Amino acid sequence: MNRLETYLIKLINAQGPITVATFMAEALGNSTHGYYMKKDPFGQDGDFTTAPEISQMFGEMVGLWQAINWMNMGRPERIHLIELGPGRGTLMQDVLRSMKSIPGMLDAIVPHMVEMSPALQKIQAENLKAYKTLTWHNRISDVLTQAKGEPILVIANEFFDALPVRQFQKAESGWHERLVCTNNIDNHERLILQLAPMPSPEQIIPSALHRADEGSIAEICTIGQNICAEIAEHIQQYSGAALFIDYGHIVHGTGDTLQAVKKHKYVDILLEPGDVDLTTHVDFQSLKETALQYGTQVYGPTDQGKFLKSLGIEARAQTLQANSSASQKEAVICALHRLTDNKEMGSLFKVMALSDTGLANIVGFEE
Ligand code: SAH
Repeated sequence: MNRLETYLIKLINAQGPITVATFMAEALGNSTHGYYMKKDPFGQDGDFTTAPEISQMFGEMVGLWQAINWMNMGRPERIHLIELGPGRGTLMQDVLRSMKSIPGMLDAIVPHMVEMSPALQKIQAENLKAYKTLTWHNRISDVLTQAKGEPILVIANEFFDALPVRQFQKAESGWHERLVCTNNIDNHERLILQLAPMPSPEQIIPSALHRADEGSIAEICTIGQNICAEIAEHIQQYSGAALFIDYGHIVHGTGDTLQAVKKHKYVDILLEPGDVDLTTHVDFQSLKETALQYGTQVYGPTDQGKFLKSLGIEARAQTLQANSSASQKEAVICALHRLTDNKEMGSLFKVMALSDTGLANIVGFEE
């Protein structure tokens, strides 16, 4: 049993069961024992690999997408570039490098990182030390306050999937919240999942799911919706665009998508909290509906493979292969395949964008 498990068992025994969202928030973000708070989980030697860690081409396409928006906005002299959940800082590095080739763009950019983990902030600062104007924030609201009255460009890759969700299960009596409780199993206290005895108000569940079969599970990510709402409101008021890339479903669905990964393998979600990565599938429909409430334009979700190809990732791969060694060529081809092929990340990952209604010609979403 690790120390976070011991802490959670004590907490639950003292104060009662906790929601799955509270469990996720503790497992990922507990200030001492949380998964993201204590280590660098990325890459081959870590627990999982993200798109920017596969190849620089991913960040270059994201940078190009934002550069086109900046040009279409009439090249504003000052614009905030905000990355949510920047991991090692690799994506921001590639994005900023790609923007160097656009005259005037780097001078206009005020870059920000929204990162809750001091350990990852340190790694990001080391990797991005060339960019002196970069600042860090724990919450998006802090950046948006600073950016009041000014346009923003937002990037979030595999950020929304790390946000806590509440889970509800349909029973005869209604939707009951799934709670993390404790139980004595073979003389050991363990964390277990149990349904709340009383049903929750049905309005919490999207109406499209109200008639789901008994036993169905619905997941609600209020924090994700709130973050999307703050971004959409700012974009519609002061102009801008946002790009969300994640795995998830295009329309509301039922199912338990909470998964734990350690060393590139699935493990039990309740064992070793704080030592395994926890994610859920992003409900893009709820993000889309949230953004639409603020009047922004919403594009996609489309497949990551289609999006990257539409921005010219294949041509970029060709350029990178010219004048490179056989093994480098092989690496570029392999990375292109992983990022775009439908059996790899190409269709599993989805891309959705928001922009203010005044911004036209958003690229990458042509069908
Ligand atoms: N975007 C990166 C990393 C994705 S992992 C990449 O593609 O490689 C998720 C990231 O989000 C981590 O940096 C994690 O510390 C951060 N994070 C998770 N929840 C957060 C929250 N509530 N607020 C700010 N950052 C958060």
